[in-house]
Amino acid sequence: MIYLDNAATSKPYFELLTLFNKLESDIFANAQSHHKLGLLAQDYLKQARTKLLKVLNVENSHIPLFVSSATEANNLALKGYALKYKNRGNHIILSNIEHPSVMEACLQLKNEFGFELTILYVNSEGVINLNDLEKALKKTTILVSIMAVNNEIGSINPIKEIAQLVHKSSLAALHVDVTQAIGKVPLDYSVIDMFSFSGHKINGLKGSGALIIRKNISLLPLFSGGNQEFGFRSATSSVALNYTLAEATFLSIKKMNERLAFIQSLNDLLRHHFANRDDLIINSPMNSSPFIFNFSLLNKKASVVVEALSNEDIFVSSFSACQSNTKGFSYVVKALGRNEFEAQNTVRISFDYHSTKEDVLVFIQTFKQILQRIKR
Ligand code: PMP
Repeated sequence: MIYLDNAATSKPYFELLTLFNKLESDIFANAQSHHKLGLLAQDYLKQARTKLLKVLNVENSHIPLFVSSATEANNLALKGYALKYKNRGNHIILSNIEHPSVMEACLQLKNEFGFELTILYVNSEGVINLNDLEKALKKTTILVSIMAVNNEIGSINPIKEIAQLVHKSSLAALHVDVTQAIGKVPLDYSVIDMFSFSGHKINGLKGSGALIIRKNISLLPLFSGGNQEFGFRSATSSVALNYTLAEATFLSIKKMNERLAFIQSLNDLLRHHFANRDDLIINSPMNSSPFIFNFSLLNKKASVVVEALSNEDIFVSSFSACQSNTKGFSYVVKALGRNEFEAQNTVRISFDYHSTKEDVLVFIQTFKQILQRIKR
């Protein structure tokens, strides 16, 4: 099997599966129970929070809320913040290539709660324009949500400059979806007011995720209940999921620099082989995350090619796995200026540290054979 769909989800570290089993069977108590096992569970959660904040370099400024996924973290950040601070203003800014969990949450805030949205258009490199952001900021802006790395094409927004601008020119909070950035591209987390990510994109477990918020921020909780997670996210905490999330984050950030050069070489290899073909167009910009490589087929159906690859046990994505059951085209690739056919027929290759040069070479060879074989 050649698995090149790591932006959809990644294989968990084996040691984290072992750790998960051990924690789930030994420290299974409710962290809110007052007996010794409950206190131990609480202590493990505390260790996980400390480890997470430390590796992200936000120990003194932020608190971590453990949640189930980046989807939940994005929803909690956007709806929780907007509804909490609606008396300060009703304007929210986002980009036109945000993940659906940001886009749809903002649209819900607009349609159901009367918030005003400004949607910034990215340029042909998939990056927002800082002048557009500056012009969009106004007195009533309470929230700006711009993703760090796009999940389909890997484009990277200049988060540091965005944070400076937002904080200099407004009282708005900056939320950043860092799901495809964490442990994959360098990022200064301390300049961001709220950021979201999932464990399973960084070789952690599905069902784990975090929203990290600046200490002075409050949110309207989306779930009412037992007031876990500082009162912002009720539900009995999973020691095993949250502890392994902290470990996965730690490992991916600590090992990032040593992995980056190798992943970049895999990405370069693909780009080199695909650069001069006249039957496809590369969508990932040059300076994007090396973990993601996206292209559009110009005269073949991507779904057919992806299925043919799958029959050879090579797994890649045709537009976004998160939206693969919706019809139509990729709004991300369309936003780059591609036509509808190109936006319907995108292929995404995404790496993780398991990926090898051999995987890429076999993929390229098989892909070329498939293109020759299939009619459309
Ligand atoms: N944001 C981005 C940028 C993503 O890539 C994804 C996953 N495709 C999500 C949010 C949602 O993650 P999850 O499905 O784990 O909630």
